[in-house]
Amino acid sequence: MTAQRPTPTPRGEEAVYFNHAANRELVFQRCSDCDRAVFYLRTLCPGCGSESLEVTVSSGLGTVYSFTTQYRAAHPFFAADVPYTLVLADMEEGFRLFANIVDRAPGDVHIGMPVETIFDPVTDELTLPRFRAATAGVPS
Ligand SMILES: [Zn+2]
Repeated sequence: MTAQRPTPTPRGEEAVYFNHAANRELVFQRCSDCDRAVFYLRTLCPGCGSESLEVTVSSGLGTVYSFTTQYRAAHPFFAADVPYTLVLADMEEGFRLFANIVDRAPGDVHIGMPVETIFDPVTDELTLPRFRAATAGVPS
């Protein structure tokens, strides 16, 4: 028996996020009251409690804050994919995104490495952001 891909059932703010991803847009929220970048999408700003959160499109550019390589699949569906590397990136707008990096072998990722977001349509209903190495860093 072949394992089926585990997929989320987006609702509320998650559905907004995944609908934008399907259109090849990475989105986060910007608080209109305290200017904080908020990610994942939610109802209240975690900084000031405001409900004035605006969905904003990210440049998709970031820098590796940390990373880990998976040698053991978290689900049987991904058994053929290991080893793979997951990156936690500081996005230039001030939030962090955790996603696979698709063009680097384990051991070929380092902290401070520039990355850019790409979009992987994994099913007809689900598109996931991924990272690939970028040639230019995030302006500081
Ligand atoms: Zn706020």
